[in-house]
Formats: sequence, C-alpha cells, structure tokens
Amino acid sequence: MNYDRILIRYGEMSTKGRNRNKFVEKLKNNMKRVLKDFPNAKVEASRDRMHVLLNGENSEEIISRLKGVFGIQSFSPAVKVEKDIDVMKEAVLDLFKSLYKPGNTFKITGKRADKTFLLTTDEINHTFGAHLLKNIKGLRVDVKNPDINMQIEIRKEAAYLTCENIRGAGGLPVGSSGKAMLMLSGGIDSPVAGYLSMKRGLEVEAVHFHSPPFTSERSKQKVIDLAEKLSEVSGFMTLYVVPFAEIQQLIQKQVPNNYSMTVTRRLMLRITDEIRRKHNGLAIITGESLGQVASQTLESMFAINEVTNTPVLRPIIAMDKTEIIEISREIGTHDISIRPYEDCCTVFVPSSPKTRPRRDKVQYYESYIDFDPYISKAVNETEIIHIKPKSKQAEETFENLF
Ligand code: ATP
Ligand code: MG
Repeated sequence: MNYDRILIRYGEMSTKGRNRNKFVEKLKNNMKRVLKDFPNAKVEASRDRMHVLLNGENSEEIISRLKGVFGIQSFSPAVKVEKDIDVMKEAVLDLFKSLYKPGNTFKITGKRADKTFLLTTDEINHTFGAHLLKNIKGLRVDVKNPDINMQIEIRKEAAYLTCENIRGAGGLPVGSSGKAMLMLSGGIDSPVAGYLSMKRGLEVEAVHFHSPPFTSERSKQKVIDLAEKLSEVSGFMTLYVVPFAEIQQLIQKQVPNNYSMTVTRRLMLRITDEIRRKHNGLAIITGESLGQVASQTLESMFAINEVTNTPVLRPIIAMDKTEIIEISREIGTHDISIRPYEDCCTVFVPSSPKTRPRRDKVQYYESYIDFDPYISKAVNETEIIHIKPKSKQAEETFENLF
C-alpha cells in the first residue's frame, strides 16, 4: 500500500487566534521551499492542518526534509479514502498488511470530526478491528501497547488512515514572529543563538564586525559560511559586514586598556542597533551565555546594554558550553566555528579586561571621543551580502567539475 499524502499537524501554532492565517501562510511557503526538488509534491493548507500530496514522490524523503521545518509538530503518512464502510474496510486491510509482521499486535483508534458519520467512535474501532481479525490469522489486539496503531479519522470530506506519528521540529514558522538582528561572530555560540531564534519564528539577519587588515579574508569567509548554514533553515540570510578596524584602533589609542573591551562592545551594540533601525528589525540577538567570559558577567552586560533599550535576546544565556556545542553539532555549524581564524575581538583583546565594569567610568572614558561620525561611517560602509543555501544541484555540479 502506498501512502498518498503526509498529514502535517501544527500544534502550538493553531492556538494563535487571529494570527493563524499568517502562520499558516509562512509555514506553507517554508515547506514549499524545502520541497522544491520534488516537483510533483503539492502542499495543501487548511485551517488546522496541512497535507502534502505525494503524487508519486517518496514519503520518507519528503518527511526527512520536513523534519527541519519549524512550526510542524508532527507528521503522519496517510491514505485518503471515501467514507464508505466497504471501501474503508478494504483500504484499512491493505494498509495494515503492508505494515504487519507476524506476531504484531494492534489497535484501532477511531476519531470522528464529522459527527454525522454513521458509526460512533466505538463502532469504528469494533467494525474495523473485527475486519482485520477476521482476515489476518493469529492477529491479536493490544490496546495499551500495540505494535500498530491504526488511526481512522473521519472528517467532513473523507476518511484518513494513518499508522505513524513522527515528531516534527516544533517551534513556529520562520518569519512569523518579526525580524531581529543576530550579532554573528565566528564562534560557536552566536550561530546557535540564531538557530534557536529562528525556531521561535524570528526572521534573522546577521551583523558581523570585521577588522581588516587585522582580521583576514578567511575569517570573513568563515562567517559567510556560518550564515549560509543558517540560511538552510530560513531559505535566505542577509549578512551585514561592518568595517570595524578604525573604531577599534581609536578605542585602543584613547581608552584605558581595562575598559577597552566594554567600550568596544558598547559600540558594536550601538552600530548593530543602527543597522536594525535602518532595516526595520525589532530586536538584537547575541550568543552570550552568563559567566562564560569576561564580557559576559552580569555587571558587564549591565554596562554594555546601557547604550540601547532595544530588546536584546540571549537565547543561550542559561546554557552550559557542552549543551551549546551539542546543538552546534546538530545544526552543522560546529565544524565551521572551530576553524582557527582570529576575529576582531581576539585581535584587540586586552590583557586584563574588567569583569566588573562600571557605567559611570565607561561613560567618562567615552566622553573624550565623539563616536557618532565613526558610527555613521561604519554603518554607511557596511557591506550587505545576500546569502542563499547551496543547492544540492550546485553541489553536484561542483563535484562533477573536479
Ligand atoms: P561566540 O561563540 O558567539 O563568538 P563568545 O563565547 O566568543 O561567543 P564573546 O566573544 O564575548 O563570546 O561574544 C559575545 C557575543 O557578542 C557573541 O555571541 C556575538 O553575539 C557577539 N559578537 C562577538 N564578536 C562579534 C563580531 N565580531 N561580530 C558580531 N558579533 C560579535
Ligand atoms: Mg567569540
């Protein structure tokens, strides 16, 4: 028996009242994007679920693609049948036989969304259960822990048969929660923070501070590669590369060594906020995790965060490094992040940064320099790179060439 569709359940998202249409629309587009290599598959959306009509495409391959799409709670490969008891009996038996191995137990789980259907839920369970028992020798019922749970769902337009519930990625469809700017370094943490933000439905744009000639082309390429990896989740990624060397040199010259890191971070935040304002974002995301390094003490965050009242989201604030590394491996950013190229903060890193900087002191040191023109210049000279995921096809072409 071949499945003719995959049933998609939204879970959390369907409770979002008036925003639901927007969620469904985003999810549908995100699904279509990851399924574009399956030209026959068709996505059909309804109020509370979606169907991917297979039209001959392979259900397992499609499910494996859809497992990465946020906003899907679960999948079930399914068969649609006419609401005629005899037709249904035959279809139930066919599907069951295709999955059954001798010794397997089963149960039937009837669900009746269409209350006008002529059998009650109990009658559905009995009718189709009896039909299977009659046709398969040695078959046994186990209502507690069956090997095969044949779900028969009666809806208005038809009945659907499914035997499997496969967990989806959860979360909310990317793009359904608004836009935020991710401060993307070349490290392990910030790509993970970006990924988790996308999981909650944010559209993410990345901002990277680059200090040529002190940082190399390779360190920039590393960040482009990270952004490209993240773009596999969202379909595209905009990366803003901010030239930061001039400001860093200025700080190094003018600010006492133990406060240079705090001032640097404050300027990075101000510039990111300016880019956010220009491109209509509503928040800033960082990969900060409490207590990990000198800049990530609470005192330090208090001093740095003073420069903006834009929400700064820190999705991994409470995670341990090992947990963060685990996620980075799962999402494929880890091996890019550990490439050994210096970033702008390591080049200019002071020997003993303050772990408890004070707002009054940092304000005092900054008061000697008018940073505004430097900030405007950095924003104006920011390079904008539009990144798309490498397509499978492009990779193959590449392999063929060499
Ligand atoms: P990561 O692993 O993300 O580099 P980290 O543990 O190295 O983080 P920090 O160097 O203190 O910690 O950086 C804290 C956060 O500041 C980063 O997660 C990132 O969001 C931001 N950040 C640091 N350097 C840069 C940079 N060059 N460009 C953009 N954002 C940066
Ligand atoms: Mg770092």
